[in-house]
Amino acid sequence: MVTCPLCDSEIDVDEDELDEGDVIVCDECGAELRVASVDPLELEEAEEEEEEEELGFDEEEGDDERWR
Ligand SMILES: [Zn+2]
Repeated sequence: MVTCPLCDSEIDVDEDELDEGDVIVCDECGAELRVASVDPLELEEAEEEEEEEELGFDEEEGDDERWR
């Protein structure tokens, strides 16, 4: 069993079946977690898709550029 670093809930994954670089999805919060290391087991957030969304937001956030 693996614990999600974001929401602390248990993810139904067998640690023995994980390899470095694998990406698993937390059932509880939906976060994508990349296996950074297997011994000891370390998970890191793998949300590359969200970066693309942020680029889209930049255009809408024109109001924030109040330089004057
Ligand atoms: Zn989670």
